[in-house]
Amino acid sequence: MKILPVIILALFTGQAIAQDLPLFDAHIHYSHDAVIKVPPEQAAKILREAGVRSALVSSSDDDGTQKLLAAAPEIVVPALRPYRRRGEIGSWMHDATVIDYVEDRLARFQYKALGEFHAYGDDIETPVFQHMIALAKRHNLLLHAHSDADAVERIFKSWPQARVLWAHSGFDNPEKVRATLRRHENLWSDLAFRSEQASAEKVDPQWLAAFEEFPDRFMIGTDTFAPERWYYIKEHADYSRAWLSSLPKELAANIGFRNAEKMLGLLK
Ligand SMILES: [Zn+2]
Repeated sequence: MKILPVIILALFTGQAIAQDLPLFDAHIHYSHDAVIKVPPEQAAKILREAGVRSALVSSSDDDGTQKLLAAAPEIVVPALRPYRRRGEIGSWMHDATVIDYVEDRLARFQYKALGEFHAYGDDIETPVFQHMIALAKRHNLLLHAHSDADAVERIFKSWPQARVLWAHSGFDNPEKVRATLRRHENLWSDLAFRSEQASAEKVDPQWLAAFEEFPDRFMIGTDTFAPERWYYIKEHADYSRAWLSSLPKELAANIGFRNAEKMLGLLK
């Protein structure tokens, strides 16, 4: 009988909450080589075992996303990446055939976002990128942008009503990220492939200030840019839960899953 209070106590400790915290992984790729190395059923299992309740998935090429969606329809939120193979990161905005590919996919499948794409500075002014913005407008798609702050400004200048998820928070420092978030209320920021925001269970004070100023804008992401990164999803989920557990419960839930759900209009 003495064991019961211990169990009840354990249920209310930060650790129990942390282990239970569902996660929305806002930065997953499942590209052609990952599909071969980690087949769809196995990929779905990895996400489920990591407690990833939802994931924003985009792949080079898009077949990976469609296969993962079929294997884990309760988890995958599909995004369309304008890349057919690896190696198009720096050239796609100068390649008009990308538009044919994107238009074809948009006609055949449903998506919530366009991206993750890479575009910096005046890449935004290229006809291909501007065409992409027009397509996002027409299909009401969020833009998942791996971009510098200059490109983010240019996107909003081209389309003031855009909704933008800033991949990796631009790899900028928290001060710069905060300044950019202040300028655009439809800008969200993922923390994918970053770790300086927290070590073990301790959140960096400057990042904490950013999370407190913008409790509704940040979200986590693994960034499975290479097939091997699929084996890191569980570890990344554990790492995320560990540092999120040091935050107030509401803020942890926001960054853990709620902000991404709200951003995508998917509140559960
Ligand atoms: Zn990425």
